[in-house]
Amino acid sequence: MPSPTGIVFDLQRASLDDGPGIRTTVFLKGCPLHCTWCHNPESQKPGPELAFDAAVCTSCQACVTACASGVHTFDATGRHTVGFDRCIAAGACLTACPSGALRLYGGEQSVEAVMAEVVKDRAFYTASGGGLTISGGEPTLQIEFCLALLQAAKAAGISTCVETCGFAPRESYGALLPLTDLFLFDYKATNPELHAQLTGSSNALVLANLRWLHAQGAAVRLRCPLVPGVNDDADHLRAVAALSTELTGLHGVEILPYHESGTGKYERLGRARPPFAAMVPDSAVLARWRETLSAHGCRLSPGTTDRQPDISASP
Ligand code: SF4
Ligand code: SF4
Repeated sequence: MPSPTGIVFDLQRASLDDGPGIRTTVFLKGCPLHCTWCHNPESQKPGPELAFDAAVCTSCQACVTACASGVHTFDATGRHTVGFDRCIAAGACLTACPSGALRLYGGEQSVEAVMAEVVKDRAFYTASGGGLTISGGEPTLQIEFCLALLQAAKAAGISTCVETCGFAPRESYGALLPLTDLFLFDYKATNPELHAQLTGSSNALVLANLRWLHAQGAAVRLRCPLVPGVNDDADHLRAVAALSTELTGLHGVEILPYHESGTGKYERLGRARPPFAAMVPDSAVLARWRETLSAHGCRLSPGTTDRQPDISASP
């Protein structure tokens, strides 16, 4: 039987932010949440999607002719409009475009093709304690591909991490359990209403899955995206610390400071950025987070919050 294929939107080698050591991180399309601060908006929809960078478009109009769906139009003033809703991601305009103004986020890949990239850095994994991380989006939305990839990594003797938003069926975590050396488990807000407001769903399932995974003896590291003035209130920080002491087997807590690297992607995907006013935390804010968490007994992962806000993949 052929291996399942998956929709992958990025593969980052030499990643230092997605688990222990030097890793290759594979980003899968599709996410059940819609976090207000999401810096990977290209991850959210399940299928491939078109992106247009107006800054490098030369208005040559080659895409107009190439696209059979009439996605690209120019008005009398020469203004280029992209009808993202009509796009079926066939990719003809990409081939025609001479300037690189167009790209597709996400493409179908086989387990073998992904693993061919992953094994290239085996020596670095061995030297650093790294390996493969599957991220997203939310990897469990492509559970068959995810499992096949993890099986292939295990067969190759490569360590595995799965990064999850926690909002997935229990059966998916049960299937991942024997194949995952470390779960990077996101926890975004303690107040259920605030969690729903910020992500589109309550945190009840997330917390239930976290406690279930811990009870099964899974290795879990908690990852907490923090946005100043949005979800860094004292109650949440205290609750994060309380989880760290309640779940004694937890492999530490990592803070993911808000950053703005994904802002331009919303525009290139033809989407409005969610109305969201937030500041990138400065060193004083980072220090306050660290002090509050530590004062309440939180077991922070080494280096967390010392890092400047450049996280690569927080679901
Ligand atoms: S083909 Fe590329 S450069 Fe030419 S108009 Fe279309 S997007 Fe712009
Ligand atoms: S869980 Fe991650 S990928 Fe999904 S919307 Fe939130 S930040 Fe984006």
